[in-house]
Amino acid sequence: MPVPKRKRSRARRDKRFANKGMSVKSLTKCANCDTAQMPHQVCSSCGFYKGTKVLVTKADRRTKRDQEKKARDEARKGPAAPPTDGE
Ligand SMILES: [Zn+2]
Repeated sequence: MPVPKRKRSRARRDKRFANKGMSVKSLTKCANCDTAQMPHQVCSSCGFYKGTKVLVTKADRRTKRDQEKKARDEARKGPAAPPTDGE
């Protein structure tokens, strides 16, 4: 079995990885909310893909939770007092 004659130096070995740096990713703008996003992927901030809502985002869950909390508070407080005429 053939074997390399000499050990490859650290410099020669590391030259192989010299051009393996990170490249700048190309970004597109979301058609719904205008934030930068990866092409061909669901927008992570609004959950839209090609103009259709496909993902429930963290912000959506928070809004829903706030609405439920508000409804619970309203129910606990009872019906609101009718507004007076200011006298
Ligand atoms: Zn978006």
